[in-house]
Amino acid sequence: MAVYEVVKYGQEVLRRKARPVDKVSKRITKLTKDMLETMYAADGVGLAAPQIGESLRVIVLDVGEGPLAIINPEIVEAKGRSTDVEGCLSLPGVLGYVDRAAEVTVEGLDEKGKPIRIAADGLLARALQHEIDHLDGILFIDKATGISGLDRLTEELGFKEE
Ligand code: ZN
Repeated sequence: MAVYEVVKYGQEVLRRKARPVDKVSKRITKLTKDMLETMYAADGVGLAAPQIGESLRVIVLDVGEGPLAIINPEIVEAKGRSTDVEGCLSLPGVLGYVDRAAEVTVEGLDEKGKPIRIAADGLLARALQHEIDHLDGILFIDKATGISGLDRLTEELGFKEE
């Protein structure tokens, strides 16, 4: 397994629409393991493949209920609304409030290519929506209100998106 450096705000891969995985090969299974390792090392609850520079539709999560990897995730049902604070490993030190569906059902494949369906609420529902957004090049700051820390980060990175 390998721990990757998390791609930071300003890198083009974070703004690209990631391509679907056509076959869950050994390389993809290894990718999910490396992503989990990277996420745990960074103390995160979720990570999307573009965050380690791979423009593929793969996400991993662990909100304290054990590791979860989803390939080609799709939100097939969404209910209710909920606003809460979010951060992102690609935007260290940045926080903001994001309005999202309170409950979602996500379908996709697991790390072995088996179809899975996950019905989630609470933090898992929020994390799933955040990570799936990454696959479409969307960052939480695009949707957030009351954002803090972004000026400091853009200064540190010497980068600001228009
Ligand atoms: Zn993120």
